[in-house]
Amino acid sequence: MRLSLVIPCYNEEASLPALLPALDGSLAELGRIGHVVEVLLVDDGSRDGSAKLLREATAERPWLRVIRLSRNFGQTAAMAAGFAAATGEVIFPLDADLQNDPADVPLLLAKLNEGYDVVSGWRKDRQDKALTRKLPSVIANRLISQMSGVHLHDYGCTLKAYRREILQDVHLYGEMHRFIPIYAAWHGARVTEVPVRHHPRRAGVTKYGLGRIPNVILDLLLVRFLWSYGTKPIHAFGKFGLASISLSLLAFGYAAYLKLAHRADFIQTPLPTLCVTFFLIGCLSILMGFLAEIAMRTYHEAAGSPTYVVREEYMGGETQPRIASGRR
Ligand code: UDP
Ligand code: MG
Repeated sequence: MRLSLVIPCYNEEASLPALLPALDGSLAELGRIGHVVEVLLVDDGSRDGSAKLLREATAERPWLRVIRLSRNFGQTAAMAAGFAAATGEVIFPLDADLQNDPADVPLLLAKLNEGYDVVSGWRKDRQDKALTRKLPSVIANRLISQMSGVHLHDYGCTLKAYRREILQDVHLYGEMHRFIPIYAAWHGARVTEVPVRHHPRRAGVTKYGLGRIPNVILDLLLVRFLWSYGTKPIHAFGKFGLASISLSLLAFGYAAYLKLAHRADFIQTPLPTLCVTFFLIGCLSILMGFLAEIAMRTYHEAAGSPTYVVREEYMGGETQPRIASGRR
């Protein structure tokens, strides 16, 4: 099988001298069991000596391809660049700092070959700080699992295995590489997970801090919105708008009652203000829903992507397996 390892790398000059020999070992192992492996190392605009180290490394290693981005675009973009360039049938992203173990690749591959399209690594015994890394991660993973309906233990683990076709249908934005298995599942992919090894970072520093928590929460909300309303945004905006207009009518009705019953004049309560505010919010929300519908339809028409995914076709008593592209 032809396999591609995709490794995003940002300022990892301290880790690369250990990573490259580790890859040598794993590739030799994979070669022995008959696989052809390429490694795409995406240098995400490193400002340390990574670029030089990587250029030198390509001289001795024919399987190594280095893609250097023009500036730091972030881990997700770096991974997307690697996915776009990868030629393997199965693609394995992993971290450059050896926190993921390249020796786990055969494990993921074996699981994939049991009939899955995506195998997610699960850092069951995660070697990071408990309070600032593991705890937020446990909470985030529970939430993501609940809200996405795709039940995995560890979305944040970079080490995963994807069949090539799966990634062709997934477009990555922002910091959403964690959600690829979810998008894939929405496209009908069979997704599973296996526990993988995890090592403490031995060199260099982590590129993330607690600052990523709000980003993950917002990404999660967006994922949830896209999942429920991706092809019918007017239902979300519209329901909110109608609820707001209903509140406005209630406020109006109550204000009118108080007035007619000679209990309070309009200017004596905040009700008229509430009535106008809720009414405006409601109208604007419905109008935004229309805009969202136009944007969504433009997107689907322009990309020529249907709003469904075909898994296979039957003809003349035969199954004709096909991977059609399409989006929810
Ligand atoms: N990374 C990247 N671009 C960035 C930040 C990180 O390519 O802007 C890479 C980094 O070099 C590493 C991987 O993404 O290979 C994961 O980053 P890190 O180890 O800092 O995250 P942690 O393991 O601490 O969650
Ligand atoms: Mg790391």
